[in-house]
Amino acid sequence: MFEEINPKKSLGQNFLKNKVTVNLINDIINIRENDFVIEIGPGMGAITENILNKTKNYVGIEKDPRLSEYLEKKYKKNIQIINEDVLKVEFSNIFKKKYRIIGNIPYNISTEIIIKCIENRTNMQSAFFMMQKEFVDRIQSQFGNKVFGRLSVFCQIFFDIYKYIDISPKDFYPEPKVYSSFFSITPKNKILLKESEIEGFLNFVKDIFEKRRKKIKNCISVKNDNLYDNIDKRAEQLSIQEMINLYRDLKNDGKLIQN
Ligand code: SAM
Repeated sequence: MFEEINPKKSLGQNFLKNKVTVNLINDIINIRENDFVIEIGPGMGAITENILNKTKNYVGIEKDPRLSEYLEKKYKKNIQIINEDVLKVEFSNIFKKKYRIIGNIPYNISTEIIIKCIENRTNMQSAFFMMQKEFVDRIQSQFGNKVFGRLSVFCQIFFDIYKYIDISPKDFYPEPKVYSSFFSITPKNKILLKESEIEGFLNFVKDIFEKRRKKIKNCISVKNDNLYDNIDKRAEQLSIQEMINLYRDLKNDGKLIQN
């Protein structure tokens, strides 16, 4: 099967070949008849087959024209594939109902995909992704951990994150150099921020993580920094709630000047 298409490294084409892992993923995602599913990068259809057997409400987004043709031929046109870069596709134009996103993601666009999910959080039910293990460890990590960063905060503010399994490079063709993890993100019912605070807080988080080794007071412009709790610490030492408290204190006093 894999001989038909020469994998392109630039598109992160490492196809899942281990059937045991494929079945495990099918069990985890547990697609139902009335689910609306967007699959990112269906490739040669490792996970697609099971989704199509469960629901008719399926749209795949595949950048490689060779693979969208392959899938259309394989499923005799009974499949809807958008042959486009996922980052250019407007998800809200695909389904009017809340949808689930599934994808074994090309690792070089993981951050952009997470940001896209954040932007689309009110329309999505959940997302199940396979990404590089280190990346998943990073978005799940807690304050005090050296990989806790901007993306961990962004992701944890909006989503509940759950990791199911780590997957060996041996499960793919060709074998990547890194381990992968399969995990889900589900939009939180209630987040710690008010709608009106979101944009300002995300900019604040970006600023305070900009220079990781610097204390927060040296990453932003504030006069009278001795008035504020935690401003002498580095961003990665603060819990998300402490970051929010500091952001609110600075904002309320009119002391926060953002770039
Ligand atoms: N889902 C298949 C599997 O599990 O075997 C393929 C996974 S492979 C890691 C990533 C897939 O995403 C490839 O089919 C690749 O062509 C596609 N892809 C890469 N960049 C993309 C992009 N920007 N938009 C949509 N699809 C993309």
